[in-house]
Amino acid sequence: MKYYEGLFFKKVDKQEDGCWMWTGAQRGSYGGFGQELAHVWSYKNFVGPIADGLQVGHDCHDKDESCLGGRGCPHRLCVNPEHLKLQTPQENNRSGRGNQWSPNYERKLRSQCI
Ligand SMILES: [Zn+2]
Ligand SMILES: [Zn+2]
Repeated sequence: MKYYEGLFFKKVDKQEDGCWMWTGAQRGSYGGFGQELAHVWSYKNFVGPIADGLQVGHDCHDKDESCLGGRGCPHRLCVNPEHLKLQTPQENNRSGRGNQWSPNYERKLRSQCI
């Protein structure tokens, strides 16, 4: 895992406001790291496993009420594990104010054991 952490941090730009912005490849408006979304990888690596049916949401997004969410949301690229939290898809949709998460994509991720 340490090797991957090295690769991970090469693509992270730590901001003054505490967000770790992903500078690597993007998938949709999220960061992509290997086969995973970067923030999901960060959560699993630094926090722990993600229970079935839950998604990784962004606390920094929820606290920034000026952010309209959707594809223009800069918080989607934040990979700071302290800004990540588990939430149900329903909660995520609410906070995303139009979150584009695709169930097919999630299923694809789950079928690949990393
Ligand atoms: Zn953040
Ligand atoms: Zn946002």
